[in-house]
Amino acid sequence: MNGLMQQRQLLISDLIEHAASNHSDQEIVSNLGDGNFHRYTWSAARRRSKQVANLIQSLGVSAGQRVATLAWNTHRHLELYYGVAGTGAVLTTVNPRLFAEQIVYILNHSGSTHVFFDVNLARLVAEIAPQCPHIQGFIALCEADQMPDMVVPGLACYESLMAGCSDVYTWPQLDENSASSMCYTSGTTGKPKGVLYSHRSTVLHAMSTCMADSFAISARDSFLLIVPMFHVNGWGVPYSSAMAGAKLVLPGSQLSGENVYSMLRDEKCTVSCGVPTVWMSLLEYAESVDSEQRRRDIVVTRVLSGGSAAPRRIIEKFEEYFGAYLCQAWGMTETSPVVTVNIPLPTHNDLTLDERFDLQMLAGRSLPGTEIAIFDDEGNRLPHDGHTTGQLKVRGPWIARAYYNHEDDAWDANDWFATGDMATLNADGYLKITDRAKDVIKSGGEWISSLDLESVALSHPAIEEAAVIGLRHSHWQERPLLIVVKRKGMDVTADEMLDHMRNNVAKWWLPDDVVFVDSLPHTATGKLYKVPLRKQFESFRFSTDVENA
Ligand code: ADP
Repeated sequence: MNGLMQQRQLLISDLIEHAASNHSDQEIVSNLGDGNFHRYTWSAARRRSKQVANLIQSLGVSAGQRVATLAWNTHRHLELYYGVAGTGAVLTTVNPRLFAEQIVYILNHSGSTHVFFDVNLARLVAEIAPQCPHIQGFIALCEADQMPDMVVPGLACYESLMAGCSDVYTWPQLDENSASSMCYTSGTTGKPKGVLYSHRSTVLHAMSTCMADSFAISARDSFLLIVPMFHVNGWGVPYSSAMAGAKLVLPGSQLSGENVYSMLRDEKCTVSCGVPTVWMSLLEYAESVDSEQRRRDIVVTRVLSGGSAAPRRIIEKFEEYFGAYLCQAWGMTETSPVVTVNIPLPTHNDLTLDERFDLQMLAGRSLPGTEIAIFDDEGNRLPHDGHTTGQLKVRGPWIARAYYNHEDDAWDANDWFATGDMATLNADGYLKITDRAKDVIKSGGEWISSLDLESVALSHPAIEEAAVIGLRHSHWQERPLLIVVKRKGMDVTADEMLDHMRNNVAKWWLPDDVVFVDSLPHTATGKLYKVPLRKQFESFRFSTDVENA
């Protein structure tokens, strides 16, 4: 027997309609990068999104067709989020920090017909355009007098086109399972893979991130969205902030510590999200501000951190500098991205601050609707005891069920998606990522977590950044090598570093050598990139290896 409830579809256009109707004066602020800020409201954003809908239809884009962006976090990008998806077309947000050949691959593989780009990326666009023959138009996100001097097919000015478009548009009542946007994985291990989100998955994900024991976004929040809108839909914040009616602050490409600090201060931001490297730059800048001034300036109560493990130092500093709670979350492109969020339970009420910091080091508990579990190599479920490590798998309504036009065996018959992460889960369901499966160090049949070792290395005051990789060892099969970057003006020797590690890790986890470098390689999303490191240290031989004696 079916329930007698209405079959309204879950659509992205309903989010902007809600924000414009119920929070019409709530602001959206964009940093344009030239010292100017653009300000308008959710109501104006709806009007402009409808103009975008008319604009792309005038370009001949129909439902299901892909439209790409190469753009930073601005109001224009937000309008494209709503205007493109609202018509039934698919917004493919491309990361401009990828290698040109990967961008070309994504534009071609997605079959995008138009590219909307920020003008400071004009040189990149000119470079890739000849390799993307089916792109009919490149639209510069600027005013007519800011048009870049370049020759690419169908070059047009966004604001000039918008000026000719009506703001009258009726959103079509699409099937909620229609595709709405597409993001590609960053392709650090092979070609980028397309993840095709639907209206339904996007709305459910936004709803779950608004929940109190999640990102808890409300109409009283001012949200600084640092996560790029080309990275997994900016963690869904362009949608969840509309759903909640929050003020939205968009930093453009201005992500220096000083800029982030000023935006948090000037826009009275209460919440923000980003990757640990962004937080490090912010905290470095904040260190130069008087402590009382800092508390007056910054009213942020929580910062959401994900993409890689947040070092304890960052968690402690947010508490010390601003009285803010650093909330770790875990997810990936394939999972929309948010699956787990770290919020304390009633049993944690009496924790000391130090114990609470320990808790904050975990990646959190799964949101309702999603399921997470760990498995061994044979596919058996492993216990949630806080120390058994296994392959992390996930399933739920905002988890991908396949890649776009790409075969992959990451899914099993029960919908479990193998994330490629190794993890533990404790009895309360808190997730701890111990490694990417390919980064695990296998020593004498046991596993050593490179993330745990990096975390301990980073707790040394003289260490700026740390990477641990497993290298061949004649007896143990693999042993850990610790590679570190010293903080400016600070010194530490390899022996001192090993002493520090010895005091904090099991004896058999102790790295066999320490190497100092000036910098470490990163991916286009700012994460440690271990592939080139392993190559660089391919012929490294441990002094502890008898084969070298
Ligand atoms: P990529 O595969 O290109 O890095 P994603 O941006 O989708 O793509 O990154 C997802 C990965 O980031 C996860 O599989 C996990 O390894 C890592 N990650 C995300 N959040 C956390 C976290 N809180 N702690 C540790 N690692 C994390």
